[in-house]
Amino acid sequence: MQNTSDNKKLSYREKKERQKTRSCHCCKVISSFSWYCRCGFTICQDCMKETAWGLSCNGITWVCPDCGEQNGYGNQ
Ligand SMILES: [Zn+2]
Ligand SMILES: [Zn+2]
Repeated sequence: MQNTSDNKKLSYREKKERQKTRSCHCCKVISSFSWYCRCGFTICQDCMKETAWGLSCNGITWVCPDCGEQNGYGNQ
């Protein structure tokens, strides 16, 4: 049994590392907050705002331009 605070610290760091490697597929900017598709497509908030008219028809889900998968805005 490891102590829980260490586990928490580790998973937080892993999360940060993972975010660092994810850059927006549109502008290549590495953002601290982006939208991800399960296929790996990543888009930053700025690009999502700019392209929302093309990716979303209802403001609740957006369609990945790579694989056509519907992704919810709320489940990030
Ligand atoms: Zn972008
Ligand atoms: Zn996708």
